[in-house]
Amino acid sequence: MALFQQAQLFPLARAIRFRTQSVASMASSIPPHKKSSSTHSRVLLGMSELDLQQLALDFGQEKYRGKQLYHLLYKRKIKEIQDFAQVPLAFRNDLEKEGWRVGRSPVYKSVTSADGTIKLLLQLEDNLLVETVGIPVADDSGSIRLTACVSSQVGCPLRCSFCATGKGGFSRNLKRQEIVEQVLAIEEIFNHRVTNVVFMGMGEPMLNLKEVIEAHRCLNKDVQIGQRMITISTVGVPNTIKRLATYKLQSTLALSLHAPNQKLREQIVPSAKSYPLDAIMKDCRDYFEETSRRVSFEYTLLAGVNDSVEHATELAELLHQWGRGHHVNLIPFNTVEGSEYQRPSKKRVHAFVNALELRKVTVSVRQTRGLDASAACGQLRNQFQKSPLLVPSADEQQKAQVSAVCQGKQVIVSSS
Ligand code: SF4
Repeated sequence: MALFQQAQLFPLARAIRFRTQSVASMASSIPPHKKSSSTHSRVLLGMSELDLQQLALDFGQEKYRGKQLYHLLYKRKIKEIQDFAQVPLAFRNDLEKEGWRVGRSPVYKSVTSADGTIKLLLQLEDNLLVETVGIPVADDSGSIRLTACVSSQVGCPLRCSFCATGKGGFSRNLKRQEIVEQVLAIEEIFNHRVTNVVFMGMGEPMLNLKEVIEAHRCLNKDVQIGQRMITISTVGVPNTIKRLATYKLQSTLALSLHAPNQKLREQIVPSAKSYPLDAIMKDCRDYFEETSRRVSFEYTLLAGVNDSVEHATELAELLHQWGRGHHVNLIPFNTVEGSEYQRPSKKRVHAFVNALELRKVTVSVRQTRGLDASAACGQLRNQFQKSPLLVPSADEQQKAQVSAVCQGKQVIVSSS
């Protein structure tokens, strides 16, 4: 994605470094994990204006009090009900007595890299940690794009072979407000509006599609981030790209391909066994036809594994076979401690790019951001929550679905 290219140092991030370091220094030992409540009821964040108006009515208040709640949540971004100064104290007290809360989590740790990228660990209600990253880029005109790379799950069950998140295990899906609050936390720490959101943090968004769609609605309608500024990525979960297409979102689908053929893909992405490459490519073509939104194919370049000119040629052939509306985003591997993979040389990356361009495939190379901030997805969380995260709060159905995908079986993932 262009976002990660030609990045310039971002003075705003430097200016706030002192602030983020002081947050980091407050990090203390994390209490043990406790069971999370299973729904997002009684959490205000994530609710629409209409829902909030109904809530006010349910509490015997005038409807306009709901509008006030909406303003306080999404414009003023206030974190505690007792700080809703415009709302009568009696209403605030009633909300709290009934167990309502805003739904914002504290920052447990933040790390700032030299290029201005900031990675946050948020401490969720059940003491699990989730990563989110803010990536500032000043473009040629001097305006600032601030991208929030958000997580959709705590950990990830899919265990892609190159991924630190996959190595850290899986705990549970995030609720909609736990996705939305990541964007608000990035805005707060940068003191700047988030302009772009990419669902490329911890987790596989398609295994948590219902909450991802609800968070997408809230980010678009309530936090007011344009749909075209939102990217949903997936490594491929059977039946879910089709389901996503039915929402006709004007958002980009990013398909994490990583290999030009099924055999190699299964080596790199074990869950690919459940979703043959031809079926994925067909679903991506259908997504483009349904939404008119170009699909971005993410391709992590692993030295000596999938980074040869022959691989690039095969990739170009695959893409042309499946039509138009595609773009390749190359990601030179970001070295992870203990990984079997290496980053390819610049020469090999250039050769790969040239081979694609020669065959008329549009391609970009993601500039690695935040190498000094444990930038690879999942790296920072793994430092602070080392033991594999089990599934204490995932329901049985979800566990079964996850297990089936991991074992390479066909599975239908429900969005409701
Ligand atoms: S790359 Fe994505 S889908 Fe694969 S293990 Fe990591 S977080 Fe999960």
